Amino acid sequence: MNSYINSVLSDLNAKYGHEKEYIQSVTEVLGSLDKLIESEPKYKKFKILERIVIPERVIMFKVPWIDDKGEIQINIGYRVQFNSAIGPYKGGLRFHPSVNLGILKFLGFEQIFKNSLTTLPLGGAKGGSDFDPKGKSAREVMGFCQNFMRELYRHIGAHVDVPAGDIGVGSREIGYLFGQYKSIVNSYDSVLTGKGINWGGSKIRPEATGYGCVYFASEMLKTRKIDLVGKRVLISGAGNVAQYAAQKAIQLGATVLSLSDSNGSIIDHDGITLEKLEMIKELKNVRRGRIEEYASMVPNVEFHRDCRPWQLIPCDIALPCATQNELDLADAEALVKNGCIAVCEGANMPTTLDATAFFQKNGILFAPGKASNAGGVATSGLEMSQNAIRLNWHSAEVDSRLQSIMVNIHDAARKAAAEFGEPDNYVMGANIAGFRKVADAMIDLGI
Ligand code: NDP
Repeated sequence: MNSYINSVLSDLNAKYGHEKEYIQSVTEVLGSLDKLIESEPKYKKFKILERIVIPERVIMFKVPWIDDKGEIQINIGYRVQFNSAIGPYKGGLRFHPSVNLGILKFLGFEQIFKNSLTTLPLGGAKGGSDFDPKGKSAREVMGFCQNFMRELYRHIGAHVDVPAGDIGVGSREIGYLFGQYKSIVNSYDSVLTGKGINWGGSKIRPEATGYGCVYFASEMLKTRKIDLVGKRVLISGAGNVAQYAAQKAIQLGATVLSLSDSNGSIIDHDGITLEKLEMIKELKNVRRGRIEEYASMVPNVEFHRDCRPWQLIPCDIALPCATQNELDLADAEALVKNGCIAVCEGANMPTTLDATAFFQKNGILFAPGKASNAGGVATSGLEMSQNAIRLNWHSAEVDSRLQSIMVNIHDAARKAAAEFGEPDNYVMGANIAGFRKVADAMIDLGI
């Protein structure tokens, strides 16, 4: 690895080695910039690497709230405003017990390059809390969201920072957050995306990340003249991204064999149909149940407790859509052995670094999340545009914009990778294409 990159990584490791996921994501990005850094001395001269790896601002705050028993509960809230060189900060809020500063720094860092790839003028950020919405009543979730926003509102704004949803933050939570923001500032600002369709949301935003991931997979397959029709697809997760990745894959003629949640995976040997998927949406989004229940609702379905789908059944395509580091080297070896030809990340950094290297070494088409799941933030950008012009576009219009954004991201990543001699290396291509625009803007804007 280039000595400049090496020295930035070792400094960062010395200071933040305990923030494992943050170090992992920086290592992945910087590790793929070797050839660019060698060919463009300006990035070293302006100390871009040292500057881009540190957030512009980190906000941490306590969130006290009262549970249904009348007990006071306290959680920690965060907003990591990572980089605003090309636009206002933008990135989701995650509510999950595993949330800590290191996780949010990894997600915020990834978001910089993802947002840059969308071609929209959006900076990178991420936020959230260690609050767990699972098992809480709607009243408790509302109380938490209101108290979270009581602090966050002073740090965000339509031209400052526009959060969205992520794990544990869906349209219900966005509603409570937006309601509180609006009542504090007395202004209907476009300050959150993922809003409900009747109060400023965009058509296709709920679908966008999952649909976009499948559009990206389909573009990758086209480079090898392969069609999605009839392909066996394994998907992990059963939340927003997984549900709509499954929906689009089924619509395009693929057979979806699995979904999962934090308790385990289901394998549906007959394939999940659109009708069965509606049952899953009702189970997960309305009743907030466990994916395990699907096995007792539908014949020929197995539930595998505490297992991820990757080693359970052969597939052609894998779409990890749950969480970070959910596909490791042993999973990658099993996938390749069983004939998998493409892996397209719907989640953020679901594949470990050694698993990614294994896929690349074995000629598997591999799309990093910052490219293949960028459809969500891109459509959030389209939601902001619609709010700004006070118009709502039809589903078909938003979907067609989403499709062309995903094709552009695919082509930009491929082109950048080809420029440096490795056209199939989407990791290198996405990182170079995303990095260049932000780094050049940082130079233009001065110190
Ligand atoms: P949801 O909360 O809707 O769903 C998350 C799913 O992943 C659930 O099935 C959940 O299971 C499972 N999951 C979460 N954490 C774990 C864990 N530690 N181990 C095993 N399973 C887990 O989130 P989203 O679908 O919105 O997000 C999924 C991924 O996609 C995340 O990495 C997110 O950052 C990324 N992403 C999301 C975007 C969006 O627009 N929503 C945009 C871009 C990326 P359970 O129900 O048991 O909690």
